[in-house]
Amino acid sequence: MDKITIIVPCYNEAEVVERFYSEVETATAGIADCAFSYLFIDDGSRDHTLAAIRTLADAHENVHYIRFTRNFGKEPAMMAGLDYADGDAVILMDADLQHPPSLIPEMVMHWRAGFDDVCGKRTDRADETLLKRTMANLFYRSMQAVSRFTLQRDVGDFRLLDHRCVAALRLLRENQRFTKGLFTWVGFKKKEIPFHVHPRAAGKTTWSYLALLSLAIEGITSFTTAPLRLTTVLGLAVSALALCYMIVVLVDALVYGDPVAGYPTLMTVLLFLGGVQLLSLGIIGEYLGRVFTESKQRPCYLIDELDGEKFDYAAGRGEVK
Ligand code: UDP
Ligand code: MG
Repeated sequence: MDKITIIVPCYNEAEVVERFYSEVETATAGIADCAFSYLFIDDGSRDHTLAAIRTLADAHENVHYIRFTRNFGKEPAMMAGLDYADGDAVILMDADLQHPPSLIPEMVMHWRAGFDDVCGKRTDRADETLLKRTMANLFYRSMQAVSRFTLQRDVGDFRLLDHRCVAALRLLRENQRFTKGLFTWVGFKKKEIPFHVHPRAAGKTTWSYLALLSLAIEGITSFTTAPLRLTTVLGLAVSALALCYMIVVLVDALVYGDPVAGYPTLMTVLLFLGGVQLLSLGIIGEYLGRVFTESKQRPCYLIDELDGEKFDYAAGRGEVK
């Protein structure tokens, strides 16, 4: 009998929790020789999500939950899920039913065929605006250009992971998590299966453009130091150009006796150099900021309640696995 834990990060998902459970139960009922359990992570919701999950947990033995002390974000929620899930495999799924439960049987089939990481690949991004799609495109392209490994395109967090992958992911304790990249980083045998993203069942998305942009910067700075290298190259190129121009100005002044350089040229060079310097400082700052956050070594999340029990860090039950 295979044991699979379904990890569901929830933030203000009160309206869908119940429906999520019943739809997944229906979709998985036909899978032979497989016991499913659920691990809901309530990421500090402000609505009745916790109550909804408790009701579910009281009614069904295969439902477990973790409640965070506040809203930590989806990445820490998934991490907690991976930390506390047991079983032979886990499935990461959004609570809003955008990830179709009907795909689970196929995922399990591929896992049983020997794949360690079976992930859903979205076939269309039609539900997204043109701007969002263009931004995504740009991100994948630049990531591809500067980084040694290839990010899986259009592959999100909807995936089945073998327990070996889970154990590997638990080793990566970085605070600023770009999970999508971490899945690629750990390696293992991957299988992509296409799926159509459904519109949200209820509620609304928490991702603004600004949040997506910062996720993209997060992705780049956590996986490659190429931008730092770029500033070095840029600096070298600008210095070389400046040297050439200096010679031109000197020769001009000494040979042709024209000591007054043009004001426009001066301004242009000044502003250009100022811009390049600020940009470089900004890039260095991004990395310095990451070093700062990671050096504090704070836990990625804090748990308030685990399966109805108050989680007491002081009593030693708080060690993050
Ligand atoms: N989520 C979370 N913490 C947050 C934001 C979101 O646990 O701070 C969960 C949310 O409940 C959902 C999943 O992450 O199950 C995906 O969130 P959302 O649907 O807002 O993102 P999108 O589908 O637009 O990428
Ligand atoms: Mg969603």
